[in-house]
Amino acid sequence: MSDLLKNYLGGRWVAGSGAGTALFDPVLGDELVRVDATGLDLRAGFAFARESGGAALRAMTYRERAAMLAAAVKVLQAKRDDYYAIATANSGTVKNDSAVDIDGGIYTLSTYAKLGEGLGERRFLLDGEPARLAKEPLFQSRHVLVPTRGLALFINAFNFPSWGLWEKAAPALLSGVPVVVKPATATAWLTQRMVQDVVEAGVLPAGALSVVCGSSAGLMDALEPFDVVSFTGSADTAALIRSHAAVTQRSVRVNIEADSVNSALLLEGDAPGSEAFELLAKEVAREMTQKSGQKCTAIRRIFVPEALYGAAAEAISARLAKTTVGNPRNEAVRMGALVSRAQLNAVREGLARLQAQAETLHDGARHAPVDADAAIACCVGPTLLGTRNAAGSDASDRIHDTEVFGPVATLVPYRDAAHAQQLIARGQGSLVASLYGSDPKALADAAIELAPLHGRVHVISPDVGALHTGHGNVMPQSLHGGPGRAGGGEELGGARALNFYHRRAAIQASTAVLDPLV
Ligand code: NAP
Repeated sequence: MSDLLKNYLGGRWVAGSGAGTALFDPVLGDELVRVDATGLDLRAGFAFARESGGAALRAMTYRERAAMLAAAVKVLQAKRDDYYAIATANSGTVKNDSAVDIDGGIYTLSTYAKLGEGLGERRFLLDGEPARLAKEPLFQSRHVLVPTRGLALFINAFNFPSWGLWEKAAPALLSGVPVVVKPATATAWLTQRMVQDVVEAGVLPAGALSVVCGSSAGLMDALEPFDVVSFTGSADTAALIRSHAAVTQRSVRVNIEADSVNSALLLEGDAPGSEAFELLAKEVAREMTQKSGQKCTAIRRIFVPEALYGAAAEAISARLAKTTVGNPRNEAVRMGALVSRAQLNAVREGLARLQAQAETLHDGARHAPVDADAAIACCVGPTLLGTRNAAGSDASDRIHDTEVFGPVATLVPYRDAAHAQQLIARGQGSLVASLYGSDPKALADAAIELAPLHGRVHVISPDVGALHTGHGNVMPQSLHGGPGRAGGGEELGGARALNFYHRRAAIQASTAVLDPLV
């Protein structure tokens, strides 16, 4: 039987008392390790995090906490090879895709370490300018942001076991709030190992970082009024979290990052072969295949002027055809596996659902897995679908509401700019849209038009063709999250991320009292 990973809670390593759930290699099918949270005293563990971890973190200044994050970065950097080995085995990702998760997580942590240095030797933040309340200027109101007195519970998705932890933990710890992370079971190993390395290095105060692997049962029940919960995952689980008594009765603050049918839009006016057209084809192929399409930000719908449908189908398919799929240990392989058999089945089902309303322009079945047993490996080739004409784009409801969490996207022809906007809006709110074109004014107008429906609009014009950071890459400097179907959450965005972990309060007093707060 494989090793049982321990949980870290209440300042000690503790094994669950059950048999555990096995984690598998999605390419070879081997059992790797087991996780289990049965019998943990969650309430006591959470109390320790709040009382010991929270108090120790709050006693530090922002600059001291920033130094603590920088120390954690060093620990993680020294162990990168171990993390890559776990990602290859448990997520089935090729090296470049593992990097998005592992190095993306470490980069995000180091970005917050640098940001925190600039916040100085303070223990709370000022919010805006003082406002005069009475006739005389002596009595004023000043808003402050103070770290919340609870803990931050992270319930994470399987696709980013590293980045998903650090993109949330960095702003929480910098804010002075202790963290309990519950990784998705399928890929919990990498999260657990990273927590273990940072805990054992002794760079964080006791209780500042805990990990619970296995069942989520009881986690929400153990939350108290000043705690916050940040959830990433499916809309169905998000609905359970939102309706839990912790949120509805105890006012636990909640952030939801859910699924999303993201768009790429080629504006009118750029012919096949133009720079903007080629940039679209390149980005779409990259987005569809990176991490086998298992990114919440991946492009799912590609909008092109109706006259360019055939040319776009050809250009994207030509790039997809070059993708070698299979065992990530083989140097020739560019795209690894889906994360589990459950995901493989879900992708096959979702694809069939879309194929009922769309034609297949490039068939993933053409990609036989390299160096892998097709009966065992959770590998699928990239599939490009299309709705053929603008009338087809209108008629299909599924392409606008189905997120297939794999290397699948649909080409959607539109009649004119207004029609494109209308079709994109049928996604009901997404994390990100990318725009392609060469007319800066038209791109700016389209970006503002799409902004209310998206957390981020990524604009790719020829001048930034070689510079831009990628449609699906979440940069810590920019907002991550999206309205409506995407969950309505907000993460990252530089210092904005700290808001979630602070309480805002107004202090009304004499300016003699308020002045020393600066
Ligand atoms: P999921 O099934 O909703 O699981 C997400 C997390 O919730 C896992 O840790 C899961 O634990 C836990 N969970 C399950 N049931 C729960 C319950 N009743 N109470 C509390 N926690 C519970 O989602 P998934 O299939 O792993 O993730 C894929 C989805 O996440 C995709 O739709 C993707 O778009 C979305 N996603 C969004 C973002 C974003 O930033 N917006 C990022 C990545 C992924 P177990 O694993 O133990 O079941």
